[in-house]
Amino acid sequence: MTTLSRPDAHTRTAPVATFRAPGPFDPAHGHEQVVYCNDAASGLRAIIAVHSTALGLALGGTRYYPYESEDDALADALRLSKGMTYKNALAGLDLGGGKAVIIGDPTREKSEALLRAYGRFVESLGGRYVTACDVGTYVADMDVIHRETDFVVGRSEPHGGAGDPSVLTAFGVFTAMRACSDHVWGTVSLRGRTVGVAGVGKVGHLLVGHLLEAGANVVVTDVSDAAVDRLRRSHPQVDVVAGTDALVRADLDVYAPCALGGALDAATVEALRARVVCGSANNQLADDGEGGIPERLLERGITYAPDYLVNSGGVIQVSDELEGFVFERAKHRVEKLFDATVAVLRRAEEQGISPARAADHLAEERITTIGSSRMYLPGRR
Ligand code: NAD
Repeated sequence: MTTLSRPDAHTRTAPVATFRAPGPFDPAHGHEQVVYCNDAASGLRAIIAVHSTALGLALGGTRYYPYESEDDALADALRLSKGMTYKNALAGLDLGGGKAVIIGDPTREKSEALLRAYGRFVESLGGRYVTACDVGTYVADMDVIHRETDFVVGRSEPHGGAGDPSVLTAFGVFTAMRACSDHVWGTVSLRGRTVGVAGVGKVGHLLVGHLLEAGANVVVTDVSDAAVDRLRRSHPQVDVVAGTDALVRADLDVYAPCALGGALDAATVEALRARVVCGSANNQLADDGEGGIPERLLERGITYAPDYLVNSGGVIQVSDELEGFVFERAKHRVEKLFDATVAVLRRAEEQGISPARAADHLAEERITTIGSSRMYLPGRR
């Protein structure tokens, strides 16, 4: 009988410290799998990070960006994929979290061959990872990737896609805002409230439409004159102020950041007059460390609706493609963001913590309870 042993079992007494993991094995990250994808023929260099499949397939977009180093690309993939686990969990989706990065300049290096090579890598994971659009990748790119794999959403409508995700992102923000109103003022109605929207691009513009229909007064700002002009043409009753500083100092009930990340920095939080912050922008908290912006918002009595919860309408919309897109079903799922927002705000109030922390706790609880109960069941997706 042959005894199997590791080839070096008798020669090595201690692990050789040649490999310094920059993150994946760090318990603070806890990623399940990180895949490096290299295709010399097309020039593809990508990293796919599967953070968690506890709730289902790990879904998250592909960011195509000219990272300065592989370490920067890895750090982004690890950070963003973990964020998707929390986002998908809190949105009530049966999906885990993942994210991919392609290293390079999408305006110069993107090609059909490269995207198809990338699609084959996604396919090789057998559905553990499902990709979608992110910075530097577009609906047309997803259609190309789809020629190699079914594990891609955010496709064009002729290819079974869900269309522009801004539609349900805006509806989700509006829904969450009504939940905030219920929590703070005891009514879901936004009639007569003044809402300040910073950034009237795809999401902000649609959000303004919902707000006006609900009887709110709307004040906006945008660095782009073209975006403001477009809005004024369709909604001439909207007030416009010059700059975000003027907007946050205005007499608002609700502030809706719908432009770039970092909207809530220390100075903004001190200046803000609104009672509620609820907007689509990603990564609104300039500093989310303990004792940082979330706690200062709490001290000031400002109700902050966590960004990754309220802007999840878009991921809910595109993930519906996995079942064959049906708008009404996706919209129905987005309506549930009302209850999810109420649950976060109630938990925060009960425990005297910020909604940002409460959101993280609720996401972790769902991952643990639902994730562990489905772990060993047959037929798991
Ligand atoms: P967009 O590019 O269409 O619109 C952003 C708008 O913000 C533009 O009109 C731009 O001119 C304006 N802007 C940029 N900097 C500004 C500043 N300093 N002050 C005021 N306005 C400024 O983007 P979008 O798709 O509407 O997304 C808006 C935000 O929501 C982003 O943070 C995005 O990541 C997030 N988000 C979008 C979706 C979606 O489905 N589109 C989903 C989830 C999250």
